[in-house]
Amino acid sequence: MFKKQNIALWLLIAAVPLVAVLPLPDFWIAQLNYIGLYSLVCLGLVLLTGVGGLTSFGQAAFVGMGAYTTAWLTLNTGMSPWLTLFVGLALTAVSALIVGMITLRMSGHYLPLATIAWGLSLYYLMGNLDALGKYDGLLGLKSLSIGSIDIGQGRLFFVLTWAILLAGAIALLNLLDSRPGRAIRSLKGGSQMAEAMGISTFRYKVTIFIIAALFASVAGWLLAHFQRTVNPSAFGLKMGIEYLFMTVVGGVGYVWGAIVGAGLIKLLDDQLQVLLPALIGTSGSYEVIVFGIALVLVLKYLPDGLWSVVARKLPRPPRAVDWQNAADLPARSKPAVGDVVLKVDKIRKQFGGLTAVNDISFDIQAGQIVGLIGPNGAGKSTTFNLITGVLSKTSGQVLFRGEDISALPSREISRLGMARTFQHVKMIPDMTVLENVALGAYTRGSSGVVSSMLRTNQAEEQRMMKEAQRQLERIGMGAYLHEQAGNLAMGPQRLMEIARALCSDPALLLLDEPAAGLRHKEKQGLAQVLRQLQGEGMSILLVEHDMDLVMDVCDQLVVMEFGTLLTRGTPAEVQANPAVRAAYLGTEH
Ligand code: ADP
Ligand code: MG
Repeated sequence: MFKKQNIALWLLIAAVPLVAVLPLPDFWIAQLNYIGLYSLVCLGLVLLTGVGGLTSFGQAAFVGMGAYTTAWLTLNTGMSPWLTLFVGLALTAVSALIVGMITLRMSGHYLPLATIAWGLSLYYLMGNLDALGKYDGLLGLKSLSIGSIDIGQGRLFFVLTWAILLAGAIALLNLLDSRPGRAIRSLKGGSQMAEAMGISTFRYKVTIFIIAALFASVAGWLLAHFQRTVNPSAFGLKMGIEYLFMTVVGGVGYVWGAIVGAGLIKLLDDQLQVLLPALIGTSGSYEVIVFGIALVLVLKYLPDGLWSVVARKLPRPPRAVDWQNAADLPARSKPAVGDVVLKVDKIRKQFGGLTAVNDISFDIQAGQIVGLIGPNGAGKSTTFNLITGVLSKTSGQVLFRGEDISALPSREISRLGMARTFQHVKMIPDMTVLENVALGAYTRGSSGVVSSMLRTNQAEEQRMMKEAQRQLERIGMGAYLHEQAGNLAMGPQRLMEIARALCSDPALLLLDEPAAGLRHKEKQGLAQVLRQLQGEGMSILLVEHDMDLVMDVCDQLVVMEFGTLLTRGTPAEVQANPAVRAAYLGTEH
């Protein structure tokens, strides 16, 4: 079901039944119930904001949606509250899908602004609909019951809420450690790398937006039957901000941060509401000011939240290697040596008046290493981006294994078996090397969000880990499997990117300046890796500045200058060409 190493999880699982039987005053049980409800909303924000990098102020509106759905249905139709939960979830999912489709293409500050607008409009809708009781809300809900057992608002409700919360936390932990989870974790680094791994970043943004909304909706359902009344004030923008605030204070990147934040803020809120008026002498919402100051201090001194302090102290045991006997992932058919893998035909890119790539043509045959060289600004990276679908072509055509890929986006091209690395290494620094490399195998698996949450994805997961290990060992990185990727030096980082690219089982590998920033020894190691890959039948396009490396490993060179093709040929031919010497030395020719 879930990993055994999570100490916090086991402590909580033990604590919930214990708290339920301890003779705690009812006041504290009620507090814990609120904390459980709020934590559920914050859990969604951990996924959406902490992991996915998407900020939402609108979660309270989804809480309201779950609450109003069950309130209206149980009061007006007599439907069982257990059924209304699912109606609420369905309504929430549909609205989150629509809101997400509209807003998640927006970048920067637009998304938070859009969620504010969404939160406000739902608040006023709830407050103005006669059927929903306007600003008075709906009163007289029943508490939840199972058969003849009334769950009420006390200890049984506590057990229910916290059981749901812990199930949600486990599902989230499972999700983050899976194929879709790695895709979600790649969102924060910008879309380029994720898309190059075959991941639809937009689809995953919408997915986590819906999941976060569903967590909020469940909390709303619980809240309605806990308070036995719903009114808009609990679902307004102020609460939306407060949920985000709780999550950030607790540690927006951590599942347990949600509970820490919700607990701390709820308790502080209550204490301050009593304490501050007594201190100041007049009543008012002064706690809001204290919270504002506290948030600034946390953001300044503990930007990763309170849980980050604990998380740093917890042991991080390396992933248990349980995949030795896993089957291999499906492999694609490879071109025969000598077949044309890539045909670049008169591709052209204009940036306004500048022709960065001017009708460039060349071929790559299977088993060849082709070097694309030229002075700075010659158009190499642009050519690379035109081939891999990152930039759109002004004109020209690219054929990959005979198929016209000219109009395809980069994730479709990667699915066909073209893999790439980046001039500036792009990785997920807080994942291990093994997990980063497994991201490359994304298109070779199919497990989705639900199977990952339920952990029925383990057979495929093991196959992916086995493949990632195999590719790391293939390029001599077997000793780094469990290392945190962000801790690697430049050389191993670049090799890790190559292993990640190899993990997709490519028919063509494109490397953008793989030797940049490497030391002499590491460059020799890289040359060795490239020759070995070639020996295994791999075709490679190499964009590189380092002439020694290029002359050493390439079969064919394509030389560019000012966007145009200067010449092409074997390294010896190119070296003997006076025009190339002139281009590099900057002399007239
Ligand atoms: P190289 O990789 O060979 O150093 P580039 O392909 O990065 O060269 O750039 C080729 C030319 O295109 C340069 O003159 C560069 O300034 C220009 N260029 C590259 N990208 C853009 C862009 N997005 N907008 C405008 N000009 C660009
Ligand atoms: Mg470049």
